[in-house]
Formats: sequence, C-alpha cells, structure tokens
Amino acid sequence: MPALIMYPGIIYGPVRSRRLGLSLGVNLLPVGRKVCSFNCVYCECGDTTELIDQARDEHGRRTTFPSVAHVRAELTQALQQHPDLDAITFAGHGEPTLHPQFPEVVQAAREVRDALQPHAKIGVLSSATLITRPRPRAGIDLCDLQMMKLDAGDEATFQAIDRPAANVRLEPILAELTQMAQQGGLIIQTCLVDGPAGMPQNVRGAAWDALVAAIGRVNPAVVHLYPIDRETPEPWVLKVPHEVVLARAAEITARTGVPVEPYA
Ligand code: SF4
Repeated sequence: MPALIMYPGIIYGPVRSRRLGLSLGVNLLPVGRKVCSFNCVYCECGDTTELIDQARDEHGRRTTFPSVAHVRAELTQALQQHPDLDAITFAGHGEPTLHPQFPEVVQAAREVRDALQPHAKIGVLSSATLITRPRPRAGIDLCDLQMMKLDAGDEATFQAIDRPAANVRLEPILAELTQMAQQGGLIIQTCLVDGPAGMPQNVRGAAWDALVAAIGRVNPAVVHLYPIDRETPEPWVLKVPHEVVLARAAEITARTGVPVEPYA
C-alpha cells in the first residue's frame, strides 16, 4: 500500500520548494477525508473519498470545513512561529476552492499576512474545476499566485487521467483559463503521466498534441511541468523520465511560445 499523504490539520510545513521557496501549506479539507473535484490517477493523497464539484448542505454550507475564524487563528499562530515565509499556499488533501467560504478564507489569510509577513505571497493550487463559478473564482482572484491544473487538451484524456466529478467537462475550464490568463500571471501546472499500452497517458501522440494545443490556447504566463514523484494510487502509472520532461518542456515552448519550468 503506497504511503499516501493526509494532513492532520489546517497548517502543514513549511516546506522548501523550487517553485515557491519556503511555503506554508494550508489544508482546508476535512481531516481524514480527501474531498476533491478530481480523482487523479497519480494523486499522492490517494483515492478521493468525496468526488464533488460543489460543497453544500441544506443551508448552503458544509460544516465539515474549518471556519474562517479557525483558519485565521491557526494561520496567525503559524506565521508567528515561522517568520521568514516566501509563500502561504492553499492546497492540502483535496480541492481548496471547494470550501464554501473560500473568498472569506483567502481574505482572512491576506489580513494575517499583511499584519505579520507582508512580503509572503498567498498562493492556491487548484484543479481549476470551479473557476467558472463566482465564489470560488473570487477567492482565486484574491490570491497572488494562481496555480491551475491542466493535464489534458482533449475530453477523453481529461476524463481518464483526472477522473473529475460527474458533469465536469474540459471545454468550459479551458475557456475560463484562457480568459483568466489575459489578466496576467496565470501559472499552469501539468503532470506528465505515462502508462503501459492502452492505459491513459499525456506524453505522446494525439493526447500530447491536444495538450500542447490547449496550453497554446490558454497562453499562461508559465507552465510548471513535472512527473509524478511519489507512489500513486493507480499502480500502473509510470514516472516520465527527467530527460523526457526536459524535452517536452522545450517542445511546448517551441510550439506555443509559452515559457515552461520543468521539474524533476
Ligand atoms: S486535483 Fe490534486 S488533490 Fe485532487 S485528485 Fe488531483 S492531484 Fe489529488
């Protein structure tokens, strides 16, 4: 059984990464349950427990998410403990924008950041499935670093690799990402996936060409391109070798003009 990641609370890290520097992680998902709009074949958090694209109870809210006040208190304490952060990043074991009060949570994080560490950037790592909805989008727009996932440029590969919640389709996401990129600063995160013959992949053939075309259409500020780096819930997923990641990064830039930062 792979050692999969599940965070015990709201705050984790900080961790140092090439992408973000010293980054404090913020997990808005319920403890012990992975709640996401995707169930990616490569997800290091394991299988999605609740595959949903909106979180609502009969009052329009999910009480299983931490309150804004709770997040604010935990962030305040963490920023006092870790004084030299480069980033505060909403990620965790699932999709952070599913939090029903995501804009309010981000606003609280901005206020804590401004008071204690004004140089730190607020970031969000998202599947991008909720960007067409006003409230998740408002929260994303409040973040300094908007890192949106894009693993496929065609519907079949999107469904096979990201395995989204019912009724989630690629085209509306691509259209919104394209608009979002025009505001400047959009970061696309793409995980290269390979597999044995007949299994989903996005590194060659029609799937690869569609992915490159989608990146060209969206035209983000930069693409972060990376292979899997931990065990995956689907044992057939193969790690794309570093030299192939480098070659695919160069090809994207050559075909689209979009800068790519490859990661090992
Ligand atoms: S979007 Fe992220 S958290 Fe959700 S299944 Fe995919 S890799 Fe895991």
